[in-house]
Amino acid sequence: MSRPVYFDYNATTPVDPAVLQAMLPYYEDRFGNASSVTHIYGWEAEAAVKEGRRRVAALLGAPPSQIVFTSGATESNNAIFFSLSQTLRSKGSHIITSSIEHKCVLNCCKFLQETGFRVTYLPVNAEGFVNPEDVEKSICDDTILISIMMANNEIGTLQPIAQIGKIARSRGVLFHTDAAQVVGKIRFNLNEMPIDFLSLSAHKMYGPKGVGALFVKPIHLMQKCPFIQGGGQEKGMRSGTLNVPGIVGFGKACEIAADSLDEEVIRQFKMKKLLYQMLSAEIPELLLNGSLENSLPNTLNVSIPLTDSVKLLSHLKNQFSLSTGSACTSTDQEYSHVLKAIGRNEREGKSSLRISFGKFTCANDIECLATEIIRYTHANNTHLSIK
Ligand SMILES: *Cc1c(COP(=O)(O)O)cnc(C)c1O
Repeated sequence: MSRPVYFDYNATTPVDPAVLQAMLPYYEDRFGNASSVTHIYGWEAEAAVKEGRRRVAALLGAPPSQIVFTSGATESNNAIFFSLSQTLRSKGSHIITSSIEHKCVLNCCKFLQETGFRVTYLPVNAEGFVNPEDVEKSICDDTILISIMMANNEIGTLQPIAQIGKIARSRGVLFHTDAAQVVGKIRFNLNEMPIDFLSLSAHKMYGPKGVGALFVKPIHLMQKCPFIQGGGQEKGMRSGTLNVPGIVGFGKACEIAADSLDEEVIRQFKMKKLLYQMLSAEIPELLLNGSLENSLPNTLNVSIPLTDSVKLLSHLKNQFSLSTGSACTSTDQEYSHVLKAIGRNEREGKSSLRISFGKFTCANDIECLATEIIRYTHANNTHLSIK
């Protein structure tokens, strides 16, 4: 039996075969520690890290010196909140974020609240957008950080990051964005954007799991409070032996993305529109969660009221692998905090499907998935489809 077609790229992506090939020598002969300075094993590893850093930086339009390697976007996000809250405590104790952030950001904020910080969770509109005016109005004298994700992992909404960053800069507040879902999917250039910190992850863009990065513009500020103490790697900010094969794979994934991304954006947007058209034509009660236009080209989130999405996914499981929402929250009994924030009620929230695909998905996969969802919905909601 063949394996189900994968439609959960926002949870993780398959490793590109070229990425794996690039990594393998660093598990074999070139296994050195990048901090060993007395022999060739160390020099090879150090050179590989340098090249990986250059490639990651090139995709972002950032100087390599501002890239700090981490274990992934969760660590990068944690690093920002814990390091800055320590370093800037004397300047203030107010943080602004949104109500639809990834759980790792929301839980950092919750923890900081317990230690005396004030956190403003900005609402979003029905399509999932933060209003930049709300950001402006929420800034206080003691605001030390604004953290708004670049794109939402569940509904794909792309936030007006450049506008928000401009506001932050004009008011002298540091600005962080979680771009785990955007890097490698949509091209942007940090050189032209008012962003101080940005989190990213390799396994969301065809790289290996367990490696990511934090772009840090104010390096000296970050160095005041290292987020992992130890041997002083990563300019003292993040100690620990570097994940050399992971960094090599991450760099290769960035290089591949830089070459193929523009064509993929167009191809994937077409597939998303095809999927939405097929579903909405046959399922009149279908609700779109998020925005069709201003969102990730690979992400479609819909609710089919009266269809229990857990049952639908179970029906599909031998043919298609997809999820109801975020991989980190989909085991909860509660429905998604993101769908709640855009105004979906419990019934709508519990009938949601997050369909996310990528460069290994073809239009035929999309058509087969749509056909099967439509067939199940018609068979189970007879009273709706008869009229
Ligand atoms: C996947 C994801 C994360 C977590 O990244 P890891 O590298 O798995 O820790 C954080 N934020 C967003 C928006 C994500 O999609």
